[in-house]
Amino acid sequence: MSRKILIVEDEDSIRKFVKINLERAEFQVLEADTGEKGIEIARKEDIDILVLDIMLPGIDGFEVCKILREEYPKIGIIMLTAKSQDIDKIMGLEYGTDDYMTKPFNPTELVLRVKSLARRMDIRDGEDDESILEFGPFRIDKYSRQFFKNGVEMDLTPTEFSIAKLFIENPGKAFERDEILNLIWGYDFVGDSKIVDVNIRRLRAKIEEDPSKPEYIETVWGLGYRWKNQD
Ligand code: CA
Repeated sequence: MSRKILIVEDEDSIRKFVKINLERAEFQVLEADTGEKGIEIARKEDIDILVLDIMLPGIDGFEVCKILREEYPKIGIIMLTAKSQDIDKIMGLEYGTDDYMTKPFNPTELVLRVKSLARRMDIRDGEDDESILEFGPFRIDKYSRQFFKNGVEMDLTPTEFSIAKLFIENPGKAFERDEILNLIWGYDFVGDSKIVDVNIRRLRAKIEEDPSKPEYIETVWGLGYRWKNQD
C-alpha cells in the first residue's frame, strides 16, 4: 500500500519538483497551490502525510496545519519554511508538526524525511507476535497504532505515538535527546533537538494528569527523558 502525500506549495517549480521526487519513491502524490485547496483535498482524500509550505497566498501554512491537525490528529505533517525565525513558531505546541525543512532544501533529503515519517506510521512492526503493550493505565495496540489510557483512545500524532511506544517498550531507560532523534526520526537531524522537547511536551499534555508534574515521562536533567518504571 503506497502512502498518500499531499503537498501544499504555491511555487509551481518547487511543488512539481517535490512531486516528481516523491513519485519516484513510489508515493502517491496530490498537490494544492493554496491552503484552502489543500484543506479541501485533505477532507476528501484519505491522506497520510502533509508536506506544507508556510508562506502561501490566502491562509498560511500555520493556519492550515492547525485546522488539519485538529481534524486529523494521526496524519503526518512536515512543514517547509523559508525563514529561520519560523522554527520557533513551528515548534509551537498547537501545530503538532512531525518534522520541518528549511528552504532551500535538497529534494532527496525531503524524500528521506517523508520515508522516515511513513515508517513511523507503518503498522508492520517486525514484532507482530505481541502487538499489545500494556503499562499501568496505558495500552498500545502496535498493529492498529492506537493508544489508550484507561480504555479511552488518545489521539496521538505519528511522532507522539512512536515516542510513547519507545518509552513503554523501555521502562526506566534514560534516553538522550539525540538518541530519541535517531530512533524516532531515524537520521541525523539537521537542526536542534527542540523537536524532541516539543513532542514530549505535547505527549505529556495528552497523557499526564498534570503535565507540569509528570508521573510517567520524567525529565532526566541535562540528558533527556525517561519513562518512570513504577512497580
Ligand atoms: Ca510559498
